Amino acid sequence: AEEAAAAGAFWRHAHVDAEALERRLVLMGELDQAIADGEIEVHYQPKLALATDRVASAEALVRWRHPTRGMIRPDLFIPLAEQADRIGALTLHVLARAVADLADWRARGHDVSVAINLSAMLIAEPAFSAAVDTLLDSGAVPPDRLIFEVTESATLADPERAAAQLRHFRAKGVAISMDDYGTGQSTLTYIRELPLSELKIDRSFVQHAHLNPADALMVRSTIDLAQGLGLKVVAEGIEEPGCLALLRDAGCDLVQGYLIGRPMVADAFVATLEQRAAA
Ligand code: C2E
Ligand code: MG
Ligand code: MG
Ligand code: MG
Repeated sequence: AEEAAAAGAFWRHAHVDAEALERRLVLMGELDQAIADGEIEVHYQPKLALATDRVASAEALVRWRHPTRGMIRPDLFIPLAEQADRIGALTLHVLARAVADLADWRARGHDVSVAINLSAMLIAEPAFSAAVDTLLDSGAVPPDRLIFEVTESATLADPERAAAQLRHFRAKGVAISMDDYGTGQSTLTYIRELPLSELKIDRSFVQHAHLNPADALMVRSTIDLAQGLGLKVVAEGIEEPGCLALLRDAGCDLVQGYLIGRPMVADAFVATLEQRAAA
């Protein structure tokens, strides 16, 4: 009876997994068409420079406005796109959109940068790098107004190659930012080995730093370490004024979070820039 129950459980699970798999495959089958149909949108979240109170840059965050499933967040479809070998096409789409929007903002007189999130597997992929080089060399925007955000795990598979490729982008002027800092592994090794310009402290350390002394200590010492090494520090996930005050006091360079601004469509982002310029 036990065996039969186990077998039953197995098949129930297999059934559920098969359904989930089916849904994923359907979704991935739709992705190329979604790009072509304009369902893939890029939203922008401001990064505020504390010393000048200026919006220094915008992080491009991808969304899928699906006709029947509603707005799909990247945490759901990015991993699927990675597994299905669609991440290169998707990222190039996001990068091209972000570069076009950035060119527009700059033409309106706003000196801002744009940050793009790069998946692990893409960094050392020759076809992807070649396409990025073409865009960087196109003259659409100065490459030193682009930031590539990578995670610690992004470089794990082949650290040497990833580092070499990042140095190549860095040499063209692109800034390299370590995203979600503190949540990965071999953290200090990466800080030493990668050609970083910026470090983003993960929001899990930042969010409650004004309430939790241990978090505050980690945030402060990370800022000291990074700045000591010549890196700019971004704190992500600022939701409370108390948290912002702590980051100011700690000398953090840039802040990002719902308190400063949520991710928004390009028109709303440019309206924010315009408002701030007028104020
Ligand atoms: P991330 O790069 O660490 O981006 C920050 C995420 O935190 C974003 O979620 C943002 O909306 C959210 N966030 C920002 N401020 C706050 C805050 O104050 N409180 C809270 N609770 N959350 C905040 P989102 O847009 O859902 O993106 C999730 C992740 O998906 C990103 O994490 C990034 O790793 C990935 N992602 C987004 N766009 C792309 C893309 O174009 N390519 C790749 N490879 N990954 C992307
Ligand atoms: Mg990011
Ligand atoms: Mg992050
Ligand atoms: Mg993240």
